[in-house]
Amino acid sequence: THTLRLILGDQLNASHSWFKHVDPTVVYVIAELKQETAYVKHHVQKVCAFFAAMAQFADALAHCGHQVMYLTLDETQPFSDLPTLLEHICTQHQLNTIEYQQPDEYRLAKQLSELSLPGIKSTCHDSEHFLLPFDDIKREFTANKHVKMEFFYRRMRKRFNVLMQDDEPLGGQWNFDQQNRENLKKADLNDIPSPLLFANDVSNIISRLERHHVATIGKAENQLLWPVNRRQSRQLLDFFCHHLLIRFGRFQDAMTENSQADWSLYHSRLSFAINAKILSPGEVINKVISHWQANQTEISLTQVEGFVRQILGWREYVRGIYWINMPGYATQNALQAQRPLPGYFWTANTKMNCMHHAIKQSLDFAYAHHIQRLMVTGCFSLLAGINPDEVDQWYLGIYIDAIEWVEMPNTRGMTQFADGGIVATKPYAASGNYLNKMGDYCKSCHYNVKLKTEANACPFNSLYWHFIQRHQQHFGRNPRMTMVYKNWQKMNADTQQAIIHKAEVLLADLDNL
Ligand code: FAD
Ligand code: SF4
Repeated sequence: THTLRLILGDQLNASHSWFKHVDPTVVYVIAELKQETAYVKHHVQKVCAFFAAMAQFADALAHCGHQVMYLTLDETQPFSDLPTLLEHICTQHQLNTIEYQQPDEYRLAKQLSELSLPGIKSTCHDSEHFLLPFDDIKREFTANKHVKMEFFYRRMRKRFNVLMQDDEPLGGQWNFDQQNRENLKKADLNDIPSPLLFANDVSNIISRLERHHVATIGKAENQLLWPVNRRQSRQLLDFFCHHLLIRFGRFQDAMTENSQADWSLYHSRLSFAINAKILSPGEVINKVISHWQANQTEISLTQVEGFVRQILGWREYVRGIYWINMPGYATQNALQAQRPLPGYFWTANTKMNCMHHAIKQSLDFAYAHHIQRLMVTGCFSLLAGINPDEVDQWYLGIYIDAIEWVEMPNTRGMTQFADGGIVATKPYAASGNYLNKMGDYCKSCHYNVKLKTEANACPFNSLYWHFIQRHQQHFGRNPRMTMVYKNWQKMNADTQQAIIHKAEVLLADLDNL
């Protein structure tokens, strides 16, 4: 044996060319590391899911005859960080080469590219996961420049021949968004299938986290419901194709508190399995398209296109945005937002029913669906002017699928506009009206969504106008915001003043909403 091949927790790609042949000169190292549990405070289910999936991956490799070293926190505890651990293993086993796969996270890519251990050669390999090759990122994206997702997505459709007929998009249209975006009617609520949950025993991992004083957030469950291996991940993909795809696009933006499946609705919940590379994006897209092809009378193209756009479009897009703009991206704060994150982000203890639900289920399941992340917690943070560093930390910690390359462009970019418009052409700011239209939280809320300035007025309303007014410099000339500013100017001065005053009262006491 002379080569150590490092596999990071989000590199569980069984189809990687490394594993095509058993090589007796190679030892694979998969390690639970304190540095990875500590760079942000993670949801306990997220740490459990990664550790459980890593252990299962190690078992699967060993089963195929590869030499594998799986190290738990107990074993890696004496080493302050990854380089020190690698050095120790190389010395102990007389290894002279380290090979690793290109990390997706800037922090780890930097740490590994700076690795310099005496007498040890290190080389970086492609992770063989994304559709867009890493080296093509610089051809598709320019630093500090807005790149339109829709055009990137069309290029990807053509390049990889996905949902295309000759050179034209299938169905004659690239995007069916207009036909999606429906809210859930009462009659729809009983049709939503209960989510497929697994029951992976993670009690040993939880005790290990306790033993090593790893600080976490959220509810710990000995039975982890997330998929942690190929079999479960493929099962979840199958479940999505058979039960959820049929209405995926249609209810993509809907929210409810009145269904047994209200925390995930028609969403796939595949993000952990894909981000850990247990499933590849190409495999997911192909599976969904072939399921649709076999069931075209039942499932419409609009649903399939909506799903494909998320993976072939958004997911590949945010990765490009991240890499072309790092490390500067992590410190951008274009709107100078400085307020601390209110305490209820950690407890769900707020009278705002929409926020209570989005946060409570995040603490319970390490999951919220896209529109909750974007239009509830994200929009609230934007309106309230919360410091994007704190917003990033929260999102990066709490979600099962949160890895910086995908979390940050979505949070700092898409929801907080802190990148000054690299991702979004206008801020995702909305008043209570939007939430009332797309969801049913307002019906049982302490606040009244129709009111702006009264004691029980929905906080989103005055905060929305305060946001619009305080950033007039920034957005006043944005053609996509013309209507909004016209509406603001149409209000009489007294109304404007009362709204701004109300918002200021709320902002001074954000912790008590
Ligand atoms: P589905 O709705 O079923 O979508 C299918 C797949 O499409 C997802 O699994 C995901 O792989 C991909 N996808 C969808 N939207 C996006 C997007 N905007 N960016 C990248 N991929 C997308 N996604 C993460 O994977 N990790 C994160 O840390 C993360 N943080 C987010 C933070 C904010 C503020 C917002 C608004 C979105 C964030 N997203 C993140 C994107 C998206 O919300 C999640 O991917 C999605 O909710 C995961 O659930 P799902 O698998 O059920 O998704
Ligand atoms: Fe949220 Fe306002 Fe509706 Fe309450 S009234 S649920 S705070 S949007």
